[in-house]
Amino acid sequence: MNIYNFTREELEAYFLNLNDKKFRATQVYEWLYKKRITTFADMNNINKDIKEKIQKTFNIEKLTIIKKEEDTLVVKYLFELADKNKVEAVLMRHDYGNSLCVSTQVGCNMGCHFCESGRLKKLRNLETYEMVLQIIQVEEDLALRISHVVLMGIGEPFDNYDNVIKFIDIINDNKGIDIGSRHITVSTCGIVPKILQFADYDKQVNLAISLHAPNDEIRNKIMSINKAYSIKKIMEAVKIYLSKTKRRVTFEYIMLKDVNDSLANALELAKLLKGLNCYVNLIPYNETSQLEFKKSTQETILSFYDTLKKNNINVTIRKEFGKKVSAACGQLRSNWKE
Ligand code: SAH
Repeated sequence: MNIYNFTREELEAYFLNLNDKKFRATQVYEWLYKKRITTFADMNNINKDIKEKIQKTFNIEKLTIIKKEEDTLVVKYLFELADKNKVEAVLMRHDYGNSLCVSTQVGCNMGCHFCESGRLKKLRNLETYEMVLQIIQVEEDLALRISHVVLMGIGEPFDNYDNVIKFIDIINDNKGIDIGSRHITVSTCGIVPKILQFADYDKQVNLAISLHAPNDEIRNKIMSINKAYSIKKIMEAVKIYLSKTKRRVTFEYIMLKDVNDSLANALELAKLLKGLNCYVNLIPYNETSQLEFKKSTQETILSFYDTLKKNNINVTIRKEFGKKVSAACGQLRSNWKE
């Protein structure tokens, strides 16, 4: 078992079970996440007996970085997992800190027609430690601290709910990597039962919904998941989420030329979101060589933005990052063979 798979509470239970002390878990966490040891032998405040038991039960193996590509302010990593599957993570240097875009699955089954990452069907969920290690290894490779995490890499976080929640618990732990919950954002294509479950999660984590359309007619054409969870169902779940958490929700909206970018679409979107504690993040579409969608013109994006603004919807346009190295939204691949 990989030691990075365990919350501090789980390790506490493990040590209590060995008739050892609860605080041993905190010591181990400090060795792993603060002092960043690479072998258990280095944990020199833990006695020999306990250390042997730890070594018998856990391993401390890392992922393999097999490729790394850099663009201005962006570094894209290709990781190989123990079973030879591959996933990507992208580091973005913002003025407010370093943000890592983390993958949650090998491949993805959500079937969004515009997304490159979904062309490889899901092979499996990532284990919690495989997400934790994306952070640790990028931090170590670049000798920097990651202050923000977005679960917006390959995969659908809410299709791997339990591992994702454990991942958030681990990286948020103040004895561990200690990334503030308000600096963590989970993005979903709209898995309604999990949005509802997430409303009861006790951490102040941000939620982003990949909406991308103001009505079912358009959304059905571009996102297969909409057949299971319509916009109406998503909005009902979001309202429950908002009332329980008192937090603001982000709606992501990719601007696709002649698909969802007309002024009528903007007005319909404004009507849909009216009065909700939310904001819209307009995402200039990143064209990929394999898919036929085109990005909206800059002019169209700006007038869509203005229309939302005039209708009192908070809106931003996402800064474009990493296009040169195909590290931008929807360009990540878990198979680099083609
Ligand atoms: N499965 C989750 C997490 C992935 S987040 C989700 O759907 O939210 C990745 C974001 O990038 C999603 O909003 C996705 O819809 C968007 N995206 C996918 N392909 C894109 C592309 N080519 N250009 C811009 N954004 C894209």
